[in-house]
Amino acid sequence: MPARLPLTPVAEGATRYLGATLVDGTGAAPLPAAEVLVRDGVIAYAGPVRADADADARVVDLDGAHLLPGFVDAHVHLAMVPGAPEEQRAWFPEEAVLAVAEVLRATVHAGVTTARDLDGLTPGYRNAVAAGTAVGPRLHLAIAMLSPTGGHADPQLPNGSLPAWAVRPGMPEPGLVDTDEDVIRTVRALLRTGADAIKVATSGGVGSPTDDPGDVGVPERHVRLIAELLAERGGRPITAHAHTDAAVRAAVLGGAASIEHGYDLSDATIELMLERGTVLVPTLSTLLRELPASATPARRAQRAALRQRGLDSVRRAIAAGVPVAVGTDAGVHPHGRNLRELGLLVEAGLDPLAAIRAGTLGGAELLGLDASIGSVETGKLADLVVTDAHPLDAIDRLADDGAVRMVVQSGRVLVDLDGRVG
Ligand SMILES: [Zn+2]
Repeated sequence: MPARLPLTPVAEGATRYLGATLVDGTGAAPLPAAEVLVRDGVIAYAGPVRADADADARVVDLDGAHLLPGFVDAHVHLAMVPGAPEEQRAWFPEEAVLAVAEVLRATVHAGVTTARDLDGLTPGYRNAVAAGTAVGPRLHLAIAMLSPTGGHADPQLPNGSLPAWAVRPGMPEPGLVDTDEDVIRTVRALLRTGADAIKVATSGGVGSPTDDPGDVGVPERHVRLIAELLAERGGRPITAHAHTDAAVRAAVLGGAASIEHGYDLSDATIELMLERGTVLVPTLSTLLRELPASATPARRAQRAALRQRGLDSVRRAIAAGVPVAVGTDAGVHPHGRNLRELGLLVEAGLDPLAAIRAGTLGGAELLGLDASIGSVETGKLADLVVTDAHPLDAIDRLADDGAVRMVVQSGRVLVDLDGRVG
């Protein structure tokens, strides 16, 4: 069964986007002076500008700009909204929902027309975007993350209390699994609630109260059990939060489609990922983020060591040809700066065309949606981004203020050339 495609409202009628340099997301060389014809939300033509075609169509002149597919961010946390968790604890449910709606809008306005939320976002948001009652990226959701008790998914403090963010209205239950029975019940419950992917933590992580990135998380046999459960239900991808080399191996051997982070890969594990076609989502935006001014010297030193090891690991994976998808972990750092990840991937060794592919068609493939989105090709939904930045010469400028001039989702203009939002 193909992955479920959450639809978004479609703009009816025909529009010709004329004159831009087209970078179509497949990795093909840019096409100058291109035409993209969109009819009823679907790409009806993409190629050189044609004379006298489709006289009924509205014309958008994009001379001097670049036209790209809408981007796919395969790792976000859109329920992590700006502001102090202690104040959010006092929110009514409506305040929480409207804060997330703001984040959805900022993310799609940044050029991300599809996103995969890997913990925290519940299906009502996905459904509201699909119904057109909220503006945002089309969404795939993990809903909650799976880890053992006391692992990366467990927010409980040693004294039994919960941090403020965990008790905010609308946050999903953490997926704590210690036994086979826990795994079976939790995965089946997540599927019943509407998960599009299952996220496991096969290592510990940063930011959870009682574990460490070096700790063991969900073991290989539980990852394999999840893969079996998913295969019984039409198939959905498993993705694994994994810091250590052993955690990555457990995830890959258990059947995960992708690895989040992967900051300590051995050459043997890189080889294994190549064999299995496992996708790496390095989330460099999070690895390289600025620490808050309040961070202690010890925390800074620990972060500097992680950065160095992580970058080296990702560089070796990229050099070996491990497939990469763009994921940012946005929420851990501010939303709406997602396209910064492309420049960071280029610094880590991807060429700019490959980075764009990782952020478009590569992400769509990982989500199982590449038949419908991810590239500017005839027959696909018209998710488009227009930018004044030169994506091949200065890809790091894509996330600058104002660099994304226009965003189109299913043919519907969400941001136009004059900066008006739809
Ligand atoms: Zn994350």
